[in-house]
Amino acid sequence: MNSTINIVTSGCTHGELNTLYKTIEELESQSGKKVDLVICCGDFQAVRNLGDLEYMNCPPKYRDLGTFYKYYSGIDKAPYLTIFIGGNHEASSYLAELPYGGWVAPNIYYMGFSSVVEFAGLRIAGLSGIFNNFNYNKGHFECVPFTRETTISIYHVRSIDIFRLKQLEDSGKIDIMITHDWPCGITKFGNEEELLKIKPYFRNDIMANKLGNPHTMELLNMLKPSYWFSAHMHVKFAALVNHENDTFTRFLALDKPIPGRQFLQFLEIPVKEGAEKILKYDECWLSILQNTDHLTVISNHDNYMPNSYSTTERYDFKPTEEEKLKVREIFSNNYNIPKDFLMTAPPHIEDNTDSLDQKRGLSYENPQTTNFC
Ligand code: 5GP
Ligand code: MN
Repeated sequence: MNSTINIVTSGCTHGELNTLYKTIEELESQSGKKVDLVICCGDFQAVRNLGDLEYMNCPPKYRDLGTFYKYYSGIDKAPYLTIFIGGNHEASSYLAELPYGGWVAPNIYYMGFSSVVEFAGLRIAGLSGIFNNFNYNKGHFECVPFTRETTISIYHVRSIDIFRLKQLEDSGKIDIMITHDWPCGITKFGNEEELLKIKPYFRNDIMANKLGNPHTMELLNMLKPSYWFSAHMHVKFAALVNHENDTFTRFLALDKPIPGRQFLQFLEIPVKEGAEKILKYDECWLSILQNTDHLTVISNHDNYMPNSYSTTERYDFKPTEEEKLKVREIFSNNYNIPKDFLMTAPPHIEDNTDSLDQKRGLSYENPQTTNFC
């Protein structure tokens, strides 16, 4: 027997957590449906304090504390279990503390540079950052205090993360994949002309096949996830990729949280009856992390991943049954992600979020959702 769960996905959050949650509350009361999970596709801006703003790369006019601090400091509690990936505007000093993911506030989980988690039996894969060819083959070498250069390079996608995600091939279904920038070439699978009417300045990049990450398009074709959500371009765009054997990937890019813009998608997905609505580690992902640990470096030199041309080196790290068994033993077969967030900052800040939102012209009325192809 099957039941369903309700997921809301969002585009760039840009620190507007208050807007996000209040809009979802409004959606819930309009639809009469209870939201089980919120998924955010980057530019989340988990800014704890003014110190974090030092290391967030963004134009000065957007250098704003936002409303995350309220959920971090315990003034308020995230009303929905929320998971997110990083984009190119992040409190990188904070996220760098959790390269493999972890809780950034009660009920708010960061997925790390890349990872797979499970919720109610659904496998959700995520990749943080945006593509930049210059830094692609380097290790994750950046550390605090960041320089002007590393404040930017910290959010550039690295080959180790794409390599690890590729090891998920044949590991079973990936239900949802999230990336901040779009898989390069995805516009060909949707209404490109309509997109160019709204964003004419995408034309040159699209013509040169340079809009987005070329490696994530490879991943899309390899892993064939049922859904793929992205953000970054501040426009809603839907596409449908038809794989062999009648499988599809429904792609949806979402806008940013401004009233009237399409930044949310409501998804009702069938799950097994009695599936636990809690976050769990993915056994296969844990095994991939263990299998590829020796490939991680903290150098800014190019570090190439093994490939099939090598005759001496292992290049396929898809976990064997034996390797998965090892992980099972370490975790005693219990993959529940412990809710072990420790409050480190006392709530000294005045709770004036609503009036700040009003000042910025934000309102929560008439929430908009979008449609797939
Ligand atoms: P962000 O919010 O990350 O600063 O930037 C998003 C904005 O930059 C979007 O409005 C999008 O139009 C623009 N943008 C981001 N990446 C590209 C790109 O590769 N090509 C073009 N033409 N615009 C981009
Ligand atoms: Mn962005």
